[in-house]
Amino acid sequence: MKDFIRSLPQLADACAIGFAAAERVDKTFDDFFSRWLADGKNGSLDYMANHRELRSNPQKLLPGAKTVIAIAFSYNQPVLRDKSLPMIARYAYGKDYHNVLRKILKKAVTELQQHFGGDYRICIDSAPIPERYWALRAGIGRRGRNGCVIVDGAGSFIFLTEILTTLEIEPDEPTTRTCLDCGRCIRECPTGALTPDGLDASRCLSALTIERKGPWTDSERRIMALPAARSTLFGCDRCQTVCPHNAAIPATPIDALLPKRQTASSADTKNGLDTLTLTSDDILHLSQDDFDNKFAGSPLRRPGLDALRRNALNTLQDKH
Ligand code: SF4
Ligand code: SF4
Repeated sequence: MKDFIRSLPQLADACAIGFAAAERVDKTFDDFFSRWLADGKNGSLDYMANHRELRSNPQKLLPGAKTVIAIAFSYNQPVLRDKSLPMIARYAYGKDYHNVLRKILKKAVTELQQHFGGDYRICIDSAPIPERYWALRAGIGRRGRNGCVIVDGAGSFIFLTEILTTLEIEPDEPTTRTCLDCGRCIRECPTGALTPDGLDASRCLSALTIERKGPWTDSERRIMALPAARSTLFGCDRCQTVCPHNAAIPATPIDALLPKRQTASSADTKNGLDTLTLTSDDILHLSQDDFDNKFAGSPLRRPGLDALRRNALNTLQDKH
C-alpha cells in the first residue's frame, strides 16, 4: 500500500511522503508544547493554545484513524524579489496553498477510497495538528535548529500536510536526524526569536507581520523598529535562506505556487497581483475594493488590508 501511495500520479509533485501510526503524541512533545505555551512563546499565535486535546490526539480529528500520511510539497521559488524591495515570504508568492494543495490531496484521497475504502481527513494548516511532529514521526525530514523540517533534496521551503486515514499502513522509521547544526539561522535571525527552547513567536517577524492583527504592542513596536523589520512586508525567510540545507534545492514543480507572470497578454495579471514587484507604496494606495479584487486567492490576504498597511508604513518609516 505504501508503494501504491508513493507512486500515485496525483502525488507526483510531493517532495516526501511518509507514514506514522495515528497514536496520541508522545509525552515529551506534549510537555514541551505545554511549557512553550505557558511561557507565552506562541505570541500572537493565539490559535496554538486552542483545541489542546485535538492537537494531541489524531483520533479526535478522525475517529478510528490508524495512520497519519505526512506529505510535503516544496514552495521554493526560482526567482526572488529584488533585495531592494521589502521581504515577502516565498510561500506567499503564488496562490493560497490551502486551496492549491487541497485540490491535489482530494484527488489522491478519491483514488485511495476507490482502491481501499476507508475514511480520510485532509489537513493543510486547517486542523489543529502538530504538522512538524508528524513529519518527523513519519520520517520525511530532519529537524532544523530554525524550527523547520528539512527534507533531503528539497530543503525547508516546504508545506507540511497530512492525510489521516482509517487504513492501517506500516509506519516508517521516525526521524532522529538533525540538521548540520551550523548555527547560521540563529545568528541571522534579526530579533533573537530562535531560542534553545524553540521559536519565540512573540519576537518572530513572520508572526508579527502576518498573524498579529491590529496595532503592535509597545514591545512589538520596538522589534518592528529594527532595521531588518523595516524591510519586512509579509513574513520572513531569513533563518531558512541562510541554511546550507537550502543551498541548490530545486524550485517547486507546482505552477500555482509561483508568482503570476506580468505579461501583457495575461488577463490574469492585468488586474491581479504581482508579488515579485509589489511595493509598500502599492499597498498604501490600495482601496478595500482593490485589495478584495487583486489579492483574491493570495496568502497576502491573511492579515487583512489594515495590517498589511501597517507593515507597509513600517517599511517606509525611515524614508518619509
Ligand atoms: S522567521 Fe525571521 S524573525 Fe522569525 S525566527 Fe526566522 S529569522 Fe527570526
Ligand atoms: S542554518 Fe544551520 S543550524 Fe540552522 S537549521 Fe540550517 S543547518 Fe541547522
